[in-house]
Amino acid sequence: MNMAEWLATSAHLRPDAPALLTGTRVDADYLTFARRAAAVGAHLAKRYGVAPGDRVALFMTNCTAYFECLYGIWWIGAAAVPINAKLHGREAAWICGNSGAKLLFICDDTADHWAEAEVPSLATFSVDGGDYRRARDGEGAAAPLARDTDDLAWLFYTSGTTGRPKGVMLSHGNLLSMSMCYFADVDQPSPQDAALYAAPISHGAGLYNFPNVRVGARHVVPESGGFDADEVLALGKQLRNVSMFAAPTMVRRLVDAAKKRRENGDGIKTIVYGGGPMYLADIRDAMATMGQRFVQIYGQGESPMTITALSREWHGRVTDPRYLERLASVGTAQSVMSVRITDSDGNPLPAGETGEIEAKGTAVMLGYWNNPDASAAALKDGWLRTGDVGRLDADGFLTLSDRSKDVIISGGTNIYPREVEEALLTHADVREVSAIGVPDPDWGEIVVACMVLEDGAEADDQKFDAHCLASIARFKRPKRYVYLPSLPKNNYGKVLKTALREMMAKT
Ligand code: AMP
Repeated sequence: MNMAEWLATSAHLRPDAPALLTGTRVDADYLTFARRAAAVGAHLAKRYGVAPGDRVALFMTNCTAYFECLYGIWWIGAAAVPINAKLHGREAAWICGNSGAKLLFICDDTADHWAEAEVPSLATFSVDGGDYRRARDGEGAAAPLARDTDDLAWLFYTSGTTGRPKGVMLSHGNLLSMSMCYFADVDQPSPQDAALYAAPISHGAGLYNFPNVRVGARHVVPESGGFDADEVLALGKQLRNVSMFAAPTMVRRLVDAAKKRRENGDGIKTIVYGGGPMYLADIRDAMATMGQRFVQIYGQGESPMTITALSREWHGRVTDPRYLERLASVGTAQSVMSVRITDSDGNPLPAGETGEIEAKGTAVMLGYWNNPDASAAALKDGWLRTGDVGRLDADGFLTLSDRSKDVIISGGTNIYPREVEEALLTHADVREVSAIGVPDPDWGEIVVACMVLEDGAEADDQKFDAHCLASIARFKRPKRYVYLPSLPKNNYGKVLKTALREMMAKT
């Protein structure tokens, strides 16, 4: 099936229901949303010759037209190539070239970046221009083109800390599996819900539109176009029943803002967090401030949002004897997935042992676009090698240690930076911390803690050393503390350990 069929159905069943909103302003109801998507699709085919299976790229910041374009692309059986709007024009151009995109959607916010790339050969179509508004008010096919579950729907380029990004091929079937898992394992959306897009639509947050389209919920792009904690808290109260995806750094900022305003996130139904480590100290603080509105997911572009989930129920099971252990985990396999741990030779390991996390199931990508070597390295007998290290317990709860490349080997022993980070974060003076391995002639590598302190806190190595010794083994504690005003992060808020390692190598 074609994922756009869900939009067609909602337009039939709930034509007048508000569908697309900017802040509290309704831009389109479901009938209008579907008509616009059909008309945009027809325009792509007629004016730009886009055919089923063709790729159409989007280099746009968050706006409601993003969804019209996505569904327009799918309506005619083409595939979307969402590009992170913060990339340099030349990086975007590389993705367009690699994917063989026939057309690029841009907007006023990205037009200048794109101009710097100087790619006159690729046609562009701005959603902020009069042509776009005329096109979306035109005519289109009554129903989306039928697709097979293995047909390409979403070609997403990984951020790639080394080398060129790789195009992750996600089919309509993959997106369907991800969406069914959302219903079963993450949240139960209702027509009264408002899905808020404070994180980039080009990434996982955008993929969460599907279950919300299915039930005919509202899709809300904040007026700011991005994440502003005060704006999110205000929208919660105005819109009610808000659900959103938030990276852990966004959760922290939301909690800080809620504390300052003496609020508890009233009107926010669900915050789905993931995409990076959520420390135990932070989620406990978040629940103490905002109550139990949280669900955690663990996934990656190659199995989007869908490997494991820690449900709302488990966040609230405070009387469970293993509650804190559960809360520090990323939960259990989502409904369509199997998860296992393997050793360095790829052999499955028993419960309790630490190794590489592998995942298999219908959410796993078809492979990398035009890259058989990378596909063969990532997929073995259908098992996706995640590059993450972790362990499963006997009940199937997965605890993540780190990315395999971030593990620190000091004196021949593996040290998982996350353990060190968890320990330091329980100190009231520590705002953020990232532990990395730095080459050392005696130890191979030593643990260096890169710290951001709370305002007014004193940088005192001994104090933090004593704090570490109270909760982790002596050999794991940092041999060096570095105090920084902020940690380097990528556009999705993930700490760039590679950048920290480079920074430390120079000092
Ligand atoms: P991306 O493909 O950019 O979405 O990044 C995926 C990576 O983010 C995973 O392989 C993990 O290393 C990390 N990640 C995703 N979800 C979580 C989570 N809940 N906890 C810790 N790390 C996570």
